[in-house]
Amino acid sequence: MFDVYEIRKQFPVLGRLINGKPNTFLDTGASAQKPQCVIDKMLKVYSEDYANVHRGSYLLSEEITLEYEKARKIVQKFINTKSDKEIVFTRNATESINLVAAAWGRKFLKKGDEILISEAEHHANLIPWQQVRDETGCTLKIFKIADDGSFIWDEFAKLLREKTKLVAVTAMSNVLGTIFPIKKMAQAAHNVGALFLTDACQFAVHHQIDVQDMDCDFLAFSGHKTYGPSGIGVLYGKYDILEKMPPYQCGGDMVDHVSYEKTTFAEPPARFEAGTPAIVQAIGLGEALNFMMNLGMDNITAHEKELTKYATEKLSEIEDLVQIGTAKDKGGVFSFVLKSVHPQDMAFILDKEGVALRIGHHCAEPLVHRMGYESVARATLGLYNTKEDIDRLVKAIEKAKTFF
Ligand SMILES: *Cc1c(COP(=O)(O)O)cnc(C)c1O
Repeated sequence: MFDVYEIRKQFPVLGRLINGKPNTFLDTGASAQKPQCVIDKMLKVYSEDYANVHRGSYLLSEEITLEYEKARKIVQKFINTKSDKEIVFTRNATESINLVAAAWGRKFLKKGDEILISEAEHHANLIPWQQVRDETGCTLKIFKIADDGSFIWDEFAKLLREKTKLVAVTAMSNVLGTIFPIKKMAQAAHNVGALFLTDACQFAVHHQIDVQDMDCDFLAFSGHKTYGPSGIGVLYGKYDILEKMPPYQCGGDMVDHVSYEKTTFAEPPARFEAGTPAIVQAIGLGEALNFMMNLGMDNITAHEKELTKYATEKLSEIEDLVQIGTAKDKGGVFSFVLKSVHPQDMAFILDKEGVALRIGHHCAEPLVHRMGYESVARATLGLYNTKEDIDRLVKAIEKAKTFF
């Protein structure tokens, strides 16, 4: 049974009053709150188990190396990879995508090649490709989405061709909530000989992922959005592809043999984890993913689906409110504007009411412009949100309207 009120008790910060009001946290899309088990685990490691990994000849170092590698195996289970060697720990999804752009893109792309992305990308899945384009002379193609934020198969298929070497798309938009048909898109990409990368930053927070079933070549997500700590991210890559890629950064831990003249590099994933990694964060992430899997990914999805329906209805009853991103296939991301109140003014009132959401372009400036705005408000759901949270949001928006 998924009892959201019981689950909320495991997130201490949700019990805190904000400006004297209940903490109505609707910004999980930016970063999620952490359950007590993650906090406890990290505290324990720092208090009792800490040492560096992969080097010591003493008990603490051996133990923590096992814990760190155990975290990798938890990630393996979370996204169902064939091998734990296909999991690279990074700082965040941004670094995961930059790693692919720098190591794979620079080596394998040239003039005449094309990268295909969508209009709905986060800056983290746009700017690295612009950079690779400028360095290699390849072309960056961007397929259109519908005005309501829907994915349009023909727009995607139209730009997919022999020249396409990489398709890099979000699995779920952080502004529109739109969910892309990743498995079908990966198949189409492979049909023209392109690799397929998906930015699963938002998708991983709400859905079961199976990289073997999706058949994606790369997948990225961030620990801090999946109820884990900040400072840790994941890059999944198919082993035979990772194996052909040069290192991203160089230094300790990623080498095989080093002399003054020449260095040979370690096999993946060590090749891509230069220097001391985010040890405790990786272990904390493992704990967070176990927490989600214990609740049941299907239960999380079902709970949020019901809330998404509720929020969509409640928000559409507010006069003057325009929802941005109303695709049929969407998750718990609600971007909106009020015709009569600037997002900044509204957010000020909402904060006084204890409601946390984000305003701005949400690191997707071209997308927000394409939808016709400079700045929008965005409420995002997490597994701990309730209908009461939505009711408080609606009440606070109504209150904001009376001020202006
Ligand atoms: C948050 C987010 C990112 C970037 O994540 P970081 O943790 O900041 O690296 C990339 N893509 C999407 C869709 C996101 O929501």
